[in-house]
Amino acid sequence: MRQIKYVVFHCTGAPATQKVDVIIDYWKRVKGWSKVGYHHLIEADGTVHDLAPIFETTNGVAGYNSSSIHICYIGGDNWQDTRTPAQKAALSRLAKKYKLMFPSAKFCGHRDFSPDKNNNGKIDPSEYIKFCPAFEVSTWLKEIGL
Ligand SMILES: [Zn+2]
Repeated sequence: MRQIKYVVFHCTGAPATQKVDVIIDYWKRVKGWSKVGYHHLIEADGTVHDLAPIFETTNGVAGYNSSSIHICYIGGDNWQDTRTPAQKAALSRLAKKYKLMFPSAKFCGHRDFSPDKNNNGKIDPSEYIKFCPAFEVSTWLKEIGL
């Protein structure tokens, strides 16, 4: 098993109605990836698609994939937090499961990998490389008791 240092949350940045096979096709044909983007992809109705086993790497954050598990909800269109209650429940289930499996891993959002350009110790919105996952993961983790 590879060492898991990060459990990273994402959004697709597209309408919540986007279909899973369309997303996978985009990675293959447009991006030319041999791997999928995320380990788990969560539909608006809460259905979790397990796209890759966690011992394999996926393509969520360049430079960190070898030590990351990537979890994504479909939505986040226009960088708004569009998570449905069912998606929040599924995200919470996965977060709690991986917290038990990898207690020392850092749980964060894609945007938390942005550089702290002004060195104030936190990633400000003006420093985000992208807005994904369109919600503040640290705040949400407190809400679900992690
Ligand atoms: Zn992302």
